[in-house]
Amino acid sequence: MLNKDFSQILELAVFQVLIACTSETKIESYVVGGFVRDHLLGRKSGPDIDIVSVGSGIDLAKVVQRKLPGARPVQVFKSYGTAMVQWNDITLEFVGARKESYSEESRNPEVTSGTLEDDQNRRDFTINALAISLNKNNTGELLDPFNGAEDLKNGIIKTPLDPSITYSDDPLRMLRAIRFASQLNFEIESRSLNAIKENAERIDIITNERIVEELNKILLTSEPSRGFLLLEVNGLLEKILPELTELKGIEEIQGQLHKDNFYHTLEVVDNICPNTDNLWLRWGALLHDIGKAPTKKFSQKVGWTFHSHEFVGSKMVYRLFKRLKMPLNEKMKYVQRLVFMSSRPIIISEDIVTDAAIRRLIFDAGTILEDLITLCEADITTKNPKRFQRYHDNFKVVRKKIVEVEERDRVRNFQPPITGEIIMEHFNLSPCKEIGIIKEFIKEAILEGQIPNEYEAAYNLMLEKGNEIGLKPNEK
Ligand code: ATP
Ligand code: MG
Repeated sequence: MLNKDFSQILELAVFQVLIACTSETKIESYVVGGFVRDHLLGRKSGPDIDIVSVGSGIDLAKVVQRKLPGARPVQVFKSYGTAMVQWNDITLEFVGARKESYSEESRNPEVTSGTLEDDQNRRDFTINALAISLNKNNTGELLDPFNGAEDLKNGIIKTPLDPSITYSDDPLRMLRAIRFASQLNFEIESRSLNAIKENAERIDIITNERIVEELNKILLTSEPSRGFLLLEVNGLLEKILPELTELKGIEEIQGQLHKDNFYHTLEVVDNICPNTDNLWLRWGALLHDIGKAPTKKFSQKVGWTFHSHEFVGSKMVYRLFKRLKMPLNEKMKYVQRLVFMSSRPIIISEDIVTDAAIRRLIFDAGTILEDLITLCEADITTKNPKRFQRYHDNFKVVRKKIVEVEERDRVRNFQPPITGEIIMEHFNLSPCKEIGIIKEFIKEAILEGQIPNEYEAAYNLMLEKGNEIGLKPNEK
C-alpha cells in the first residue's frame, strides 16, 4: 500500500515555508524525485529534498533561505541553474524545470527551460518523476503523468520515455536502474533491460567517481548480489570490475572441479551484510578472492591451486582502486590487508587452535582482527550442513580464544617490553643489526608463548641472546 497522504508532511515547518514562498513569489513549484518516491513507499528518505520550479529555482531558493531561521547561505550553481539550501539536517535542492537534449559524445545535455511536464520527461524513471504540488490552487496534489505510483506499487523500474534513448542519452541511468532495483527490491522492466544490454558499452563515458558512487550504494544494500548479478548479466560488470567477472566459471581437469569463485564471492558479500554496515569491509568481501583468477593452476599431484592468491589479490586492490579513482588512503590499505590476510583465520580454525597461533593472528592482524574474522565467517559457503556448522563452531572457539589470549598477553598493538634503547645501553652499542636480532628473538619468544609479555622475562632473554651472539655487557 502506498502512503498517498501528504497532509502530515506538508505541515512540517520546512514545507510550510516552501508553500508560503511559492505563493509569495508566484513561482510555480513542486517537490519531486526521491523524497516523493520514498514517502509513498513509507521508506526513510535521504537527507535531500528536490524542488523543481517553473521559473527560477535560484530565486525561490533565496527567498526560502531567508525564511528558514539559521539556514546556511544559498549555494548557487549558476551553470546548472541550481541552488542548494542547508537547514539543520535537511538539504533543499532547487532546480528550474528544464528540457534536455543530448548529443552522442557527452553526458551533458543542452538545457533550455521548460514546463513541469518537460522536466518530468527528462527524469530517469517513472518512480522518480512523481511531483507534489506546493502551489496554492492544488497544494499536496500528486502529479504523476507516467503512472509512477502504479509502478511503485508493483515494484517496477521503467523509464518515462523510450528506454533506448533514455539510457543512451545518459548511461549512468543504467547503473541507477540496477541500484534502485537492488535498494528497493524492484524488477527492471524487460524493455529497459534490453536497452541496458544494448547500451552497456556506453558506460565508458561515465566518470569513475559516479560509477563508484552507484557501486557503493549497491554494496550497502542488504543483498548486494542482486545488483551485481544484474550488472553481470547485462554486460556492465565486465566493463567496470573485470577482476570479478574473471572469477566466473568452473573448470574440470581429470574429473577435478573447482568452485565458481564469482558466485561464491557474491554469496560471501551477502553473508557479511547482516553482520556489518562498514562499506569497506563489504568491499573486502567483494574483492577477497580476486587474486584467484591470475593464480589458478592445475597440477597432477594436488589438483587445483590458487597459490599466493591473497598476496596477488592485495596488489590488485591497489590497481583497481587507482583505476576507479577510489581513495588510495587508509581505506584502500584496510581492504588490501583484509584481502591479504583473508585465509589466515581459516587455516587456524581448521586445526586445533593453539594459543601461539592465536597470538600470531592478533599480532599480525592488529586493528582489523574482528573484521577479518567477520569476513572469514561470511566466507563459509559450503552446502554441507555438517561442515557448515563445524566451521562456524570453530570460529566461535577462535573468537573466545582471542579474548582469553588478549587479556593475558596483550599482543595487539604490540610494544616490545625491551626497547632498542635498553639493549644499546646494556651492551654499550650504537645502532647495529644485533639490536634487531635481539628484539626479533624476544618478540618470537613472546608470540610462541615461551616467555610472558613482561619486562623481567624479556630482560633475561635479552641477556641470554646477547651472550649467545657474543655481546659483552656494559662494564659501568
Ligand atoms: P537517492 O537520493 O535516494 O539516491 P534520488 O531519486 O533522490 O535517490 P538523486 O540522485 O538524489 O536520486 O536525484 C534526484 C532526482 O533527480 C531523481 O529522483 C531523478 O528524478 C532525477 N535524476 C537524478 N539523476 C538522474 C539522471 N541521471 N537522469 C535523469 N534523472 C535523474
Ligand atoms: Mg536524493
